[in-house]
Amino acid sequence: MAVQGNGDGAAPPALDAGDAASLPFWKTKTLDAMTTEEWESLCDGCARCCLNKLEDWDTGEIVWTAIACELLDDESCRCSDYPNRTTRVPDCIPLDPDAVRSLTWLPASCAYRLVSEGRDLYWWHPLVSGDAETVHEAGISVTGRTVSEADIPVEEYEDFIVTWPGELPER
Ligand code: SF4
Ligand code: SF4
Repeated sequence: MAVQGNGDGAAPPALDAGDAASLPFWKTKTLDAMTTEEWESLCDGCARCCLNKLEDWDTGEIVWTAIACELLDDESCRCSDYPNRTTRVPDCIPLDPDAVRSLTWLPASCAYRLVSEGRDLYWWHPLVSGDAETVHEAGISVTGRTVSEADIPVEEYEDFIVTWPGELPER
């Protein structure tokens, strides 16, 4: 999938001072320009990126499974050991602007991907709604829809392939 808009790290369109001051940070800043606090707040808490994926060795196609990382709290959709995640789970990929631009499997709903592509956040993003629950109410988060990788042998992963992590809500 091609990265569009600001995905090349280019500055967003010029705004006059009055316009920029009245807009939220994700509409005026590139991913690279965000503060740590802004960056962290941009995650909507969906946990779709914490699902295991399968890659077809011949075609390179990547598909989602409903099998979640063993550190994911399936109810809250939060990592149970976020500060130590890369030590505990070596294949956990911490997101930074370069990763956002290069990881083709980031969900279409992912806020980092949306901003990287020069698009706005959806109504259910907590930064827009002001409510951390709307990501769950909209059916975007993985809450209640996963099984833990701790319970599933790798040879059975194909039985858990799903498409919903790549989909957007109808509303
Ligand atoms: S897919 Fe994007 S918005 Fe959702 S939890 Fe992962 S990083 Fe955050
Ligand atoms: S270690 Fe935490 S952040 Fe990384 S994939 Fe697992 S649950 Fe998600």
